[in-house]
Amino acid sequence: MSQTKVSVNELFGINVFNDEAMQERLPKNIYKSFKKTVKECEPLDPALADVIANAMKDWAIEKGATHYCHWFQPMTGFTAEKHDSFIAPTNEGTVIMEFSGKELTQGEPDASSFPSGGLRATFEARGYTAWDCTSPVFIKEDGENTTLYIPCAFCSYTGEALDKKTPLLRSMEALNKHAMRVLRALGNTTSKRVGATLGSEQEYFLIDRKFVEKRIDLVMAGRTLFGSPSPKGQEMDDHYFGSLDERVATYMNRLNIELWKLGVSAKTQHNEVSPAQYEMAPVFSSINLSSDQNQLTMEAMKKVAKRCGFECLLHEKPFAGVNGSGKHNNWSLCTDDGINLLDPGSTPHENMVFLIFLCSVVRAVDKYAKLLRASVASAGNDHRLGANEAPPAIVSVFLGDQLNEIFTTLAKGPATSCKEGGKIKLGVTTLPELPKDTTDRNRTSPFAFTGNKFEFRMVGSSQSVSGPNFVLNTIVAEVLSEIADKLESSDDKIKAAGEFLQKISKENGKIVFNGDNYSQDWVTEAEKRTLPNMRKSVEALNTITEPAFVDVFEKHGVLSKGELKARQEIMLENYATTIAIEAKATINIAKRQILPAVVKYSLNLAQTVNGVTSSGSDASVYKEMLDEISSETKKLKSAITALEKSLTAAEEKECTAESAECFCNGVIPSMDKVRMSADKLETLVDAAQWPLPTYAEMLFLK
Ligand code: ADP
Ligand code: MG
Repeated sequence: MSQTKVSVNELFGINVFNDEAMQERLPKNIYKSFKKTVKECEPLDPALADVIANAMKDWAIEKGATHYCHWFQPMTGFTAEKHDSFIAPTNEGTVIMEFSGKELTQGEPDASSFPSGGLRATFEARGYTAWDCTSPVFIKEDGENTTLYIPCAFCSYTGEALDKKTPLLRSMEALNKHAMRVLRALGNTTSKRVGATLGSEQEYFLIDRKFVEKRIDLVMAGRTLFGSPSPKGQEMDDHYFGSLDERVATYMNRLNIELWKLGVSAKTQHNEVSPAQYEMAPVFSSINLSSDQNQLTMEAMKKVAKRCGFECLLHEKPFAGVNGSGKHNNWSLCTDDGINLLDPGSTPHENMVFLIFLCSVVRAVDKYAKLLRASVASAGNDHRLGANEAPPAIVSVFLGDQLNEIFTTLAKGPATSCKEGGKIKLGVTTLPELPKDTTDRNRTSPFAFTGNKFEFRMVGSSQSVSGPNFVLNTIVAEVLSEIADKLESSDDKIKAAGEFLQKISKENGKIVFNGDNYSQDWVTEAEKRTLPNMRKSVEALNTITEPAFVDVFEKHGVLSKGELKARQEIMLENYATTIAIEAKATINIAKRQILPAVVKYSLNLAQTVNGVTSSGSDASVYKEMLDEISSETKKLKSAITALEKSLTAAEEKECTAESAECFCNGVIPSMDKVRMSADKLETLVDAAQWPLPTYAEMLFLK
């Protein structure tokens, strides 16, 4: 197949208006000014915008583009785009291709149909998109249509954020500001900026499309709402890192090509734990670009799957009884001159910087554990967190034995010995050299230090990574600002830094846990430590407007109280709507597919009973089969009625929070009951008459 013989060098980034393309196409002075603007995060000079827009247009047209679009990330969690062609009619009845600086930098889409959480009344429907010039524009080929994509932020007429990107950008500013203050206070005079880096490992399922076409639940809800377990699941541990199926390998290859063209550095690919489950990880990059690229990745995964006759399921729990999917969020801090601030260095001074940043994250996670939990709250993720395959809903930090030793020693003050026999004093000259690879692995921790970065493992596979990351950036910025205040007002900065480390170790040590997060003992222990354990998303979402959380977002200019409340409203509503769709699909499938199949098979059995009896033989066994089915059908029927009632009750609630609560505690348990009876019936009814493809087929047949 010719597609496999690609030169990755030539392919990588060909559809991105990247640095190389800019250097080639922009006048030198314009290129330089633009780079300076991006690097120093200054506002874009409108004079530059016209020249850049023109060069982009020429580049795009040469690649076959006819349209451009502002590409943004509304609160749906998906991306949005509205395409405009480059054409401008002339007086002669012909057209010329035009693209102005204004069209590049600003758009005014009608925002009335996007969720705003009450921020924008429909009569003020106007929304604004603004070019985020820190994320490069690119070209996307969809079928025969080629369009220039411009990554944008999206806000209301009055400037409130209506999207996922704006708070992320704001949080990056806050993080930069306070990280720089700390660095300067600790004697760094060379770095100019600090940014977060992100590498998100993306898990997904692939199943044959022919099955999806027969399953309304997969089409509507992205997960199976019915299905008794396959005789074989993941118990043989034979899928994880197993050799790739040929069709899947072809899919991965096509996906890589698609992603490489878009400048996404797709790097790692392998089979995951559950049958039909896989993972792709890119090389990390700056957090904004990386989160844009994760959106592109999810989209490409779905698109390429269709081309290969597969369906790609990004839901957190497409199949009960086997592992669900997450998105490990690898996060670190890096200066513009390439220093990873979470990398233990080789000199005592570097180690002080490392310990300050490491401990800041620990303190941030402890103080704002609820916010982090809420940032990954969704109906889908509730199936995963705490299900012994993913981290529990209790947030804790894993440091590893060696760092943990150092961390606890800090609490005791100066001159205590650590495991390796080295002395730790809180003065910088006496800090020991830190071991480079301290990362014994702990797969069960929700927030694990992994050598030179933290890995936040609670993020759901279908989620936009912006939410968890703007929370992470903001809470770390807050702790850094606290430390910076202290350092800036102290004459002996090193002593002050040491004292702060001691304070963190004493006050926030309760969040550090290096044991097995899946064990029941940990649940008990966490309760003793007063760590929050919010098993359900609704509970977590209700906490995000607590005064301390409003304060931290307002203080750092990331979200106003109104914006935060709006987000809470949207997330609760999204939760309720998701469950409502699942409940309706459950009722639909149960009534219109499962019950009729059971009726038919029962009739077959009844006829058998009659026939066998009239032939003079003993029909009791057939009668027993029929009785068992009838009794289960009765249960199913009444479970459906109960579900219908609880759905109506939940939908009748006017207040979003109350409605979400009803969906969580009323509708979901009712849905579970319907499923339980239906799945039982699946094991009793003739396979040939069962209307839904089975777990065994979907998970194992390609
Ligand atoms: P694992 O063994 O947990 O899968 P990997 O070493 O494969 O870990 O890395 C997982 C992800 O972490 C990759 O996307 C990688 O690019 C990313 N990563 C590595 N270093 C950093 C860093 N400094 N900042 C952010 N992400 C990083
Ligand atoms: Mg990992």
